[in-house]
Amino acid sequence: MPKQQKESVIIVGAGLVGSLLSIYLARKGFQVSVYERRPDMRKETISAGRSINLAISTRGIHALERVGLAEKVLATAIPMQGRMMHSVSGELTFQRYGKDDSEHINSISRGELNKILMTEAEKTYGVKFHFCENATAADFKTGAITFKHERTGATRTVNASKIFGTDGSASAIRRELEKQPNYRTSQVELSHGYKELTIPEIEGGGFQMERNALHIWPRGSFMLIALPNFQGTFTCTLFLPFEGPVSFASITDEAKMMSFFKEQFPDVIPLLPNLKEEFFENPTGRMVTVKSAPWSYKDRVVLLGDAAHAIVPFFGQGMNCGFEDCEIFDDMLTEALEQEGSVQNWEKLFTQFWQSRKPNSDAIADMAAENFVEMRDKVGDPKFLLMKKVEKILNDNFPKDYVSRYGLVTFSQVPYSAAYKIGTIQNGILDELCRDLKQPENLDLALASKLIQRELSHVMGELNGSKN
Ligand SMILES: Cc1cc2nc3c(=O)[nH]c(=O)nc-3n(C[C@H](O)[C@H](O)[C@H](O)COP(=O)(O)OP(=O)(O)OC[C@H]3O[C@@H](n4cnc5c(N)ncnc54)[C@H](O)[C@@H]3O)c2cc1C
Repeated sequence: MPKQQKESVIIVGAGLVGSLLSIYLARKGFQVSVYERRPDMRKETISAGRSINLAISTRGIHALERVGLAEKVLATAIPMQGRMMHSVSGELTFQRYGKDDSEHINSISRGELNKILMTEAEKTYGVKFHFCENATAADFKTGAITFKHERTGATRTVNASKIFGTDGSASAIRRELEKQPNYRTSQVELSHGYKELTIPEIEGGGFQMERNALHIWPRGSFMLIALPNFQGTFTCTLFLPFEGPVSFASITDEAKMMSFFKEQFPDVIPLLPNLKEEFFENPTGRMVTVKSAPWSYKDRVVLLGDAAHAIVPFFGQGMNCGFEDCEIFDDMLTEALEQEGSVQNWEKLFTQFWQSRKPNSDAIADMAAENFVEMRDKVGDPKFLLMKKVEKILNDNFPKDYVSRYGLVTFSQVPYSAAYKIGTIQNGILDELCRDLKQPENLDLALASKLIQRELSHVMGELNGSKN
């Protein structure tokens, strides 16, 4: 049983990060109440919000392992060992993500994960969830938060000595922080939106495409992707500009939509029986990058997850990064509790937390934006594919000193900022090695070794198993 602390704390937002955080805090003995705007998704059929499924990798899995939930969550995951690229003519090319099958990402259902986390928090740790409660205002000086009930319209005020804001990219708690004079924020909306479409399972069961892959139809300024679901379906996501000649705005009727799909994604049309209905009826989602600071106010409030640092989804790291926030905060809380018995200086703890996380969340935000260009544009480019093959040779020949940026982000816990820095060095090395190279087998391994030793070995050595 958790050790009883005196303090009760409030979490605003029972999405993925808020629900996991509630477990972490309750395990430390705090009395945790979580307020969530939506109804209880375990009792009512509602959209889980954002995407239907998502990819969990090492950072997210590690954060679940600490609370004993990784095995349960992964039991329904579909491992994705690499990218399967679909050309316009239907040709398939597979690009492995890791060094072998053991390095893979996992497609999981957002809704099921959220339900597992809430149920575990409630049943095992006594966390109290309050649904349909929309935080509309907060007074950080007094700790009063005003909630409006989404069904009855009734408002009530709840007082809290500690407020954890995990209410997502459009966070109401962050909006209150923004009123502080020292606040810095940049919130950049992507000019692309996204729309989800469904590939059903084969009648009688089974997947209609390779199940252990993340499918991509890269088309330059836009793309379609598909992630497998446990039931045998795939959820496709079309990323398309909002405005412009080829955009959500320009596809105004069925004929235009069908001709767009026939021209760009002919192989997928037979797999999407409800394309017309889904295209016009499913919502078009928006994506934003939020970089802000500070994430805390005195000893009262702190932000975690998308509320602190929303990023675009093209590295599959938003949730993973938010889960890592919980783990890092837990490490710091553990240290404070071990040294002092109870937290003597919350302001210091909150400040230390966000100052250590911010360089890393900024780095993954930038890498995610770069990866959008890579996924939609470069994965079909011969020069880029050659570089990827050379990178694989370097990974195989220099496993200690050359781990790709993708591998560092996805299959390790080294700080995102270090992965970013190392990726820049690697790009320089790859540029030099590939300048006049036509075939990967002609790679000059002696030169590669020299460059790696000169540029990279010491940086990798410094990492030395470091974690955020
Ligand atoms: C298309 C897409 C694909 C993605 N794919 C991946 C992926 O493959 N891997 C990955 O790691 N990440 C992925 N992400 C990112 C991931 O979805 C987010 O990083 C993650 O959901 C963040 O969790 P969160 O709990 O911080 O925020 P959210 O999931 O947004 O949860 C916030 C919660 O707060 C509630 N809330 C909001 N406002 C209020 C309020 N005023 N009062 C009370 N409650 C409130 C909301 O209802 C919600 O339940 C993807 C995102 C998108 C859009």
